Amino acid sequence: MRDNDCIFCKIAAGEIPSATLYEDDDFRVILDLGPASKGHALILPKEHFRNLYDIDDELAAKAMVLAKKMVKQMTDVLGCDGYNIVQNNEECAGQTVFHFHMHLIPRYKGDQVGLEWKVGELTDEVRDEILEKLK
Ligand code: 5GP
Ligand code: ZN
Repeated sequence: MRDNDCIFCKIAAGEIPSATLYEDDDFRVILDLGPASKGHALILPKEHFRNLYDIDDELAAKAMVLAKKMVKQMTDVLGCDGYNIVQNNEECAGQTVFHFHMHLIPRYKGDQVGLEWKVGELTDEVRDEILEKLK
């Protein structure tokens, strides 16, 4: 399934050129055009899914296995010190391209990549509310 208005469908299919690090039947891994750090890459499934809410379970599992492989390989290539894997779902969470993708963001000691958040506190009330609703 593909979405003819989706830029990542076109990139994943090779219709729009991209700096491709890896490709197989299910995925294309490309360098992000607006990198948070040197080597920032995106894992794109070739099939169109809006985000994690929609993606096929088997493909989601494969994406994580591929992330592991890419992170290990790219750590050797880039000489980075660590990695963040980021995956945004819906606008409020920062998703801007509505085709499932995983960000692979290399981290370098002392870099200025800003993925931090203000640390909150888990209250007893909220903990109990969530655990109760999950039952
Ligand atoms: P999101 O904010 O949806 O999680 O991430 C979208 C990412 O796609 C951004 O990091 C942005 O820089 C990247 N991006 C958007 N358009 C293109 C494009 O045409 N080519 C590439 N390589 N990256 C893109
Ligand atoms: Zn798409």
